[in-house]
Amino acid sequence: MMKYQETVNQSAEYLRLSLPLMSRQAAALHPISYAVWYEYVAGINKPLQAAIDTLTKNGAQLDETITADLFQKYIAELDAQTAQRLADGFQKALNDIAQSAAHAEDHADQFGNELVQCSEDLGNVESDSGTIKVIDKLLFGIHEMQGAITTLKGRLDDSQSEIEKLRQEVDRAREEALADGLTGLVNRRGFDLALAACLSTVESGEQGPSLLIADIDHFKQVNDNYGHLFGDKVLCSVAKILQANIKGKDTAARYGGEEFVVLLPETTIEGAHALAEKIRSTIERSRIRRANNGQEIAQITISLGVASYCFGETAGAFVERVDNALYVSKNQGRNRVTLAPAGPQRKPAKAATEDLMPERGSVETVQPL
Ligand code: GH3
Ligand code: MG
Ligand code: MG
Repeated sequence: MMKYQETVNQSAEYLRLSLPLMSRQAAALHPISYAVWYEYVAGINKPLQAAIDTLTKNGAQLDETITADLFQKYIAELDAQTAQRLADGFQKALNDIAQSAAHAEDHADQFGNELVQCSEDLGNVESDSGTIKVIDKLLFGIHEMQGAITTLKGRLDDSQSEIEKLRQEVDRAREEALADGLTGLVNRRGFDLALAACLSTVESGEQGPSLLIADIDHFKQVNDNYGHLFGDKVLCSVAKILQANIKGKDTAARYGGEEFVVLLPETTIEGAHALAEKIRSTIERSRIRRANNGQEIAQITISLGVASYCFGETAGAFVERVDNALYVSKNQGRNRVTLAPAGPQRKPAKAATEDLMPERGSVETVQPL
């Protein structure tokens, strides 16, 4: 998820567009400001765009600190080594472009001067051999110019591949920063970005997106009974089941400790509900066995909340509505799916911890309060 999907040509165009914007700031030209302004001109990071528009509203410049803050907050942290590699690559790409441009300019000037000289010489020639000399000189000038253009093209191609490499590095560093180390799913930060990007494209009257939040039931007991390492394995198994049940544009993320979210763009509440029920029953039917002797040692269940996005609702309100539905599932006995009602809602009381035995899965719908 959250990949830079632009083509190389588009990237080069975005770089071209971002250079003048970047150079207007107090911050130096480096990969951090490149990443910030790249995302700005590419229009792929609405919260970042809004923040920059606000910050630069009165003609203010972005300095190093603000640029770094924007990067941290809206893009992702990079480790120092990656940042340095990006800095070097970026500097090289810029230098090459500048050098090639200067080189081509020199040649054009030189060729222009030669042409002036040739036309003067042509005016003065009296013999055929004199004309041939002038034509030879012209041909030589044209060859020189062609050579310079070929070199320039080669350098621009090199710069493009530098930019492409740079783009891939930013992409990879960013993907790493947005991934959950244990399960390999997207982490909470990645999910927040995916949700913001998804909501920024929603139009009135459109279906979805829908959102599921799943929380493992009595996970503390799993840890207590079988150990923390085993608990980690369970988290990975649940993540695998989620991943296996989604497709295309869907995003499954680890939202917190033993809590997962699934974002389903362009999905109706009915579709999301069916998927939630499928995931719930798949996990309920899975048996966790010991690796060495296959002995069955635990059954895991999850509770889920489901909602479809109400147009105009904030991301926070949307997540809260799903979270409230999840708490209803917990309160009603766990191992079940609850659909959130449309529209604003008060938070129900916290889940009771007494009912330790989950009932067979069933579906509840919260009534609007
Ligand atoms: P409920 O059914 O109400 O959700 O009960 P619960 O026990 O699942 O919920 P509670 O919030 O009380 O406990 C969550 C537990 O998840 C406690 C914490 O130790 C465990 N946990 C959180 N993150 C990790 C992790 O990365 N690995 C492991 N093994 N356990 C984790
Ligand atoms: Mg839990
Ligand atoms: Mg929890």
